[in-house]
Amino acid sequence: MKDAERSSDTVFGAIVRGEIPADIVYEDEQCIAFRDLNPQAPTHVLVIPRTGISGLQQADQAEPELLGHLLQVAQAVARQEGLEADGWRVVVNVGEAGGQTVEHLHLHVLGGRQLTWPPG
Ligand code: AMP
Repeated sequence: MKDAERSSDTVFGAIVRGEIPADIVYEDEQCIAFRDLNPQAPTHVLVIPRTGISGLQQADQAEPELLGHLLQVAQAVARQEGLEADGWRVVVNVGEAGGQTVEHLHLHVLGGRQLTWPPG
């Protein structure tokens, strides 16, 4: 299966197509951002590209401009959520050992509490 097909065949592909609902907090031509169903912090938003890429394991196949845009949208979401003063975190889980469960690239934007390090 091609990478774009694999990622469109996920729950996030269905959200991009509007087939299942999501609490969308930001969208533009290239990406959407919506609240995580199982939040790990008071703010937990996922930023995903509309087009298919299964994860950062395929970063070398993606447009660098798109990858940069996703980070700028993460910042815009953090600002919108009022996280800028206190700080926030972006997490990208990659592959099985990285804890990735959905094969469609997504940035976790987390904030609203003191986050600890190292992650679990
Ligand atoms: P990861 O483990 O990095 O692949 O993250 C996948 C994230 O997607 C998890 O935090 C899930 O809680 C979240 N998730 C799964 N299904 C949905 C959904 N339908 N709407 C919002 N978030 C979801």
